[in-house]
Amino acid sequence: MHSPRAPLAFTTSPLDRAGDRRCDPAWLAAKRRASDALILPLRQLQPLILDDASTSGPRIGLLDAVTVERLDLPDGPEVFLGLDGGRAHFARDVTAAPEAAASALLRLGQFRDARASAPFLSPGEIALLGQAKAMIDWHARTRFCGTCGQGTESADGGYRRFCPRCGAEHFPRTDPVVIMLVTDGEDCLLARNKRYGSNRIYSTLAGFMEPGETIEEAVRREVFEEAGIRTGRVRYFASQPWPFPHSLMIGCYAEANSREIAIDGHEIVAARWFAKDEIRTMIADGYKGETGLPRREAIAFHLIREWADA
Ligand SMILES: [Zn+2]
Repeated sequence: MHSPRAPLAFTTSPLDRAGDRRCDPAWLAAKRRASDALILPLRQLQPLILDDASTSGPRIGLLDAVTVERLDLPDGPEVFLGLDGGRAHFARDVTAAPEAAASALLRLGQFRDARASAPFLSPGEIALLGQAKAMIDWHARTRFCGTCGQGTESADGGYRRFCPRCGAEHFPRTDPVVIMLVTDGEDCLLARNKRYGSNRIYSTLAGFMEPGETIEEAVRREVFEEAGIRTGRVRYFASQPWPFPHSLMIGCYAEANSREIAIDGHEIVAARWFAKDEIRTMIADGYKGETGLPRREAIAFHLIREWADA
């Protein structure tokens, strides 16, 4: 049975989400007012990254409450991320910040894409960024009630929005995606997605689960739709939150029952079988050849490597 040898990106958050406490507005307000509270600003879903040359390098822009107070930011969605010890961490959407506040923030660091920053940060920091980005994005998309169209309001530290008109409640969503390495003995199937553009990256197949499907059924359906391969046994590998915008990648291995590839031509523009030795060489030489593998932040890379090393 394969399993990841190291924590996957966006997993292993150091924070206690304190789900039992965050529903108490008085407790939450006291934690937010506390002098040791930390706030991570995000602008257009990009977190603040501090490039601190005096330490080991970039780190996430967790600002103390006094600094945030001085910036005089407008009211924006704020989300409770959790506790580290007793210290509360929050994420704040500063997209609507006026010029002066935005300039002050940019003197502290840069707003950068969470994925591009991942290689430079610790696993705990990356997990925190992922949670913050997915939550702030959900608030931006759920400003209005899906039932009646009224503006919604945030509650429970940002983990619920409710409609003051019809009473509907809205909860942060996570979209399950199956991502699978199809194997046939010593070969595995990799494909090029049209999203990769001119990058010659070959990766695992993946697709959104549909209502009424099991994980195994979704794996078999997606593999057949995208590559025309019939699969039998499906085994679970690991899962990875993927905040682009709010997916949960469910990594699996699927055993092929057929060999003939028929790509869908829409999402998948090329697919072929790779021998285990070929994959090992690609990983060992840092994929300097014509064909590349997915980045190490992605669970796809770990599915491929764990299989190749077995
Ligand atoms: Zn409503």
